[in-house]
Amino acid sequence: MSQSNQKNKETTFLIEIKGLVQGVGFRPFIYRIAKKYNLKGCVENRNDGVAIKINCIKQILEEFISSIKHLAPPASNIESIDFKVVDDEDFIDFQIVKSQSISNQITDISPDIAVCRDCLEDMKIQYNRIDYPFINCTNCGPRFTIIKDLPYDRDKTSMEDFKMCPDCLKEYKDINDRRFHAQPVACAVCGPEYSLLYENEEIKNNHTIISKLADLIKNKKILAIKGLGGYFLACNALCEETVSRLRKQKNREGKPFAVMFSDIDSLKKYAIVDKNEEISLLSLKRPIVLLQQKKELAPSVTVGFNTIGAMLPYMPIHYLLFEKLDISAIVLTSGNISDEPIVTNNKTAIEKLSGIADAVLTYNRDIYNRTDDSVVTIVNKVERIFRRSRGYVPIPLKLNLNVDGILATGAELVNCFCIGKGKQAILSQHIGDLKNMETYEFYCESIEKFKKLFRFNPKLIVSDLHPDYLSTKYANDSKIKHFKVQHHHAHIASCMAEHKLDEKVIGVSFDGTGYGDDNNIWGSEFFVCDLKEYTRINHFDYMPMPGGDKVTSEPWRMAVSYLYNLFGDKLQKLNLPFLKQINASSIELLCTAIDKKINSPMTSSAGRLFDAVAAIINLCPVSKFHAEAPMRLEAIIDRQIKQAYPYVIGKTILFEETIDQIIKDVKQHTSLSEISTKFHNTIISIIIDVVKKNRNIYHINKVVLSGGSFQNKYLIENVENLLIKNDFEVFSHKKVPTNDGGISLGQLVIAAKSI
Ligand code: ZN
Ligand code: ZN
Ligand code: FE
Repeated sequence: MSQSNQKNKETTFLIEIKGLVQGVGFRPFIYRIAKKYNLKGCVENRNDGVAIKINCIKQILEEFISSIKHLAPPASNIESIDFKVVDDEDFIDFQIVKSQSISNQITDISPDIAVCRDCLEDMKIQYNRIDYPFINCTNCGPRFTIIKDLPYDRDKTSMEDFKMCPDCLKEYKDINDRRFHAQPVACAVCGPEYSLLYENEEIKNNHTIISKLADLIKNKKILAIKGLGGYFLACNALCEETVSRLRKQKNREGKPFAVMFSDIDSLKKYAIVDKNEEISLLSLKRPIVLLQQKKELAPSVTVGFNTIGAMLPYMPIHYLLFEKLDISAIVLTSGNISDEPIVTNNKTAIEKLSGIADAVLTYNRDIYNRTDDSVVTIVNKVERIFRRSRGYVPIPLKLNLNVDGILATGAELVNCFCIGKGKQAILSQHIGDLKNMETYEFYCESIEKFKKLFRFNPKLIVSDLHPDYLSTKYANDSKIKHFKVQHHHAHIASCMAEHKLDEKVIGVSFDGTGYGDDNNIWGSEFFVCDLKEYTRINHFDYMPMPGGDKVTSEPWRMAVSYLYNLFGDKLQKLNLPFLKQINASSIELLCTAIDKKINSPMTSSAGRLFDAVAAIINLCPVSKFHAEAPMRLEAIIDRQIKQAYPYVIGKTILFEETIDQIIKDVKQHTSLSEISTKFHNTIISIIIDVVKKNRNIYHINKVVLSGGSFQNKYLIENVENLLIKNDFEVFSHKKVPTNDGGISLGQLVIAAKSI
C-alpha cells in the first residue's frame, strides 16, 4: 500500500478523555460533534472519564479532537485527551452507550452550576420562560442539592413532583437541544414557583414578587431567601442601620458577612480584583472570593477587616432582583442562627428565620442535600479553598491508591467527612461545628445520604485521635473496625493525597488545636513523614493553656500564660494596656491554675501563640468568633516591613526573646501594624530555618504545608515563595481545605496505607 493510501485509510480510534467530563452534558455534546463530522462510533462513561470510539482518517480525528477541546461544555474541565488505534470495529451509527453499572453512574453526580449565559438570554425571549427564575439547561442549574438517588433521572430528584409540559419534554428528548436530558428542565407552565411571605400575606406572581423584594430591600428590610442549598439572609449592604440589625438578630457579633454584587464592574468599585480572582468570581462554581477592600460598604458588613467576601449572582432570581434594585451590593449570609447549619426546610425557615427576617422568599421544590456557599482565596495566583460546598461538592478527588470502603469521620470544629470509592475520595460538603446538636444531626444524616447516593458500604472507619471529638465517638459507636489517626499527620497526608505524593516528606502543620500522641495539644508540628508514619522533629515550646478550651474565646489567657512563663509574678508590674482591663484577682487565679496545673493542658499550638500576641498588644484580648485574633493580626500587616523578632531553635522553638521584644515595642508605642508584621516575619523565618535544617539532616527536599494557620495569606504566600527560592519542592492545599475541613482526606489515605 502506498503511503498516501495509508494516510487516507479509515481506522478505529479510541479516544480517552479525563477530567470533569461526567454529569455535565458531555456525552450529548460528543454526539453532536460526531454527527457534525458524520462519524460512526460510540461514546460511553468510564470510571475515570469518557471513552469514544470512532472510525475515520487521522486528519478528521485531529479536527474532531480540536473541536472537543474548543467547544467543550462550560461546566466541564478536560485534563487530558489521549487517542490510540484499536482493532477495527464496525458501527452503523454514532451512539451514546448507557452505563450499565451503577458504580459508573456515581461519577455522574455533578455539583450545582451557576445559571449560564444562554439561559439568561432565553429568560428574556422564550415565551414560556420570560423572567422565569427556575430556568436551567444541561450546562447549568441545580444538581447535587436535588439528587436523592441514582441513576440521575428526574424521578430520583426533588423535581419528581413536577411533570414536564409538552414544550419542556420536546427539548428534553431532542439531542440537538441544549436541554437534552437536563433533568431539572422546567418552565413557567410546569416547573417550581416562588412564593413570598410578608405580613401574613402570600404573594405568588413572579413579577409581583421581584418588585416587592426590591421594595423591601430599599425599605431597610431583611429577607430570608431560599437558595440552591439552603436559605440565606439578605439586605442592603450599604445601609448600616439594616446590616447592624441583621447582625444583632442573627446573633453573630463579629464575623464579616458575605456580599453579593450585581456584576463584576460594580464589585470592582469596592474591592481590588486581579485576573485570577476575577476567574474564580466568574467561574460557574461562583464561590465567595476573599478580596482586598477598596471602598467601604456599611461598616457592620466587614467589622473592621480590610477584606470583603464577595460573590456574583448565580441563580436566576439574583439577576432578576438586581434588575429591579438601585443598589449593586446586598449582604447574602447563611440563613442560620449562630452555629446551627443553614436552614433548608420551608417550615423550619418560617419558624426560625421569620424572627430575623421581615419577609421569607420560598419555593416549592425541596432541597435534598444541604450546601452552603463555598469560600476561596487566591494566593500566589492559585485558588485555595477554605469552605468547600456549593459548586465543588461532590467532585471526587483522584488518588493513586485504593481507598475503597473507608469512611473518614473528620475532625470537629470545621467538619467534613470523606468516603473512599476505588481510587477516588469523595469529600462531603462543609458540615460545621459538630458540638452544635443540629449540626451533628446534619452530619449523621449526610453520612447516611452519601452511603445511599454513592452505593457506599463502609468496611473501615477512621477518626481523629481525640477521644472527645463527636466524630471519634461516632466512629466508636459504629461497630465497624476503627482506626485512629493523629490530627496533624492527617493534615499533612491530606495535602499529600491532593498532590498524589506517597513518599517521605518534611511536613509543616500549623493550626489551632489537635490532639497529640503525648496527650498534649499540638499545633506547630514539623514532621518527617509519609502516608504511614511520622516522626515529630520540632515543635514550639509547650505552654500551659489556663482554662482549657476557654482560651479560644479569651486570648488574654494565653497572653498571661506566655508572660507568666517569662516574668513570673512580676507580670502585673509590666503595666501593659491589656492587663489593665482584666482584674488583678483573675490574673492571680490564672497563675495559680498554671502553678497547680488545674485545667491547664500543655499546648504547642501556633494558633495559641498568635492569640497570645494579639492579646499582648491589646488588639484582640477577647475573641468574638473562631480565629478572630489571628485574623485581626493578619489584617493589620504592613507589607513594607521586613524585620523580624529574635527566636531560639533548640529541640523545641523558644519564644522568650520574641515576647520580650514585643513588650519592649508595645512600651515604645511601636505601631500595632509593625509589631504584627515583625511577628509574622518571625514565624515565616522559623519555618524556613527549621525546614532547611531538616533538609540537611534527612536529605528530603519536598515540603508539605497544611493546617488552619495557612489560611493566613501573608504566611502561606511568603513561606511558599521563600521555600521555592531555597530550591525546595513545595506542596500546599488548593482543592482541599487547609483547615480541619481537609482532615478527613488525610485520615482516609493514612488508613488505606496502614491497614
Ligand atoms: Zn443554562
Ligand atoms: Zn415546561
Ligand atoms: Fe487542625
